[in-house]
Amino acid sequence: MVEDERGVARALRRGLLAEGFAVDVALDGRRGLELAASGEFDAVLVDIMLPGLNGYDVVARLRERQVWTPVLILSAKDGEYDIADGLDLGADDYLTKPFSFVELVARVRALVRRGPAPRPAVLTVGELSLDPATRVVTQRGYEVVTTAREFALLEYFMRRPGQVLSKGELRDHVWDAAGDGLNVVEVYVGYLRRKFGQAAIETVRGAGYRLVAVGTTAGPGPVAP
Ligand code: CA
Repeated sequence: MVEDERGVARALRRGLLAEGFAVDVALDGRRGLELAASGEFDAVLVDIMLPGLNGYDVVARLRERQVWTPVLILSAKDGEYDIADGLDLGADDYLTKPFSFVELVARVRALVRRGPAPRPAVLTVGELSLDPATRVVTQRGYEVVTTAREFALLEYFMRRPGQVLSKGELRDHVWDAAGDGLNVVEVYVGYLRRKFGQAAIETVRGAGYRLVAVGTTAGPGPVAP
């Protein structure tokens, strides 16, 4: 359970324990993601408004890491966020606060029963296609072999098509070691451009890079070279 209101967390935990669940509580989004990413849970309950990382980001990053543990969003009824966003990002169900404890238990039981559902959604941007499950990248239907790091960088871009991504953000998400300089990003963007064409990744001066859709997806698929 990722919930920053200690009183709420304590009460829900006590109730769930009484129902026979084992419950670990994280009081902020980053800790919640860290715990949930271990994949050792049957379900994850996540509040939306959290310090550090909000609930939607927790879900999105969890799915990015290929962790498919069922997620139940516990949202405050403040209308600040659209609940559909959470479901789009990979949550499985949601409850709007205030909810009844009986309802919560019923939802959690349903999620646990359902279990994790692998969702190898293939990402497509223009003529590029990337399958996170099989780790195959194709361009206009032809497979393009990538190294693990190129794949990770391309996947990060393809999950955010059209968004300007700073070198710092790319470095932090694709390279673990904080010791790597930003030039490693430039080098790997160069590799991707060499493989997929200069136009695929635009340089946004002073801001970073942006993946753009090149070609169309309306073509007939692979054609003879
Ligand atoms: Ca909160």
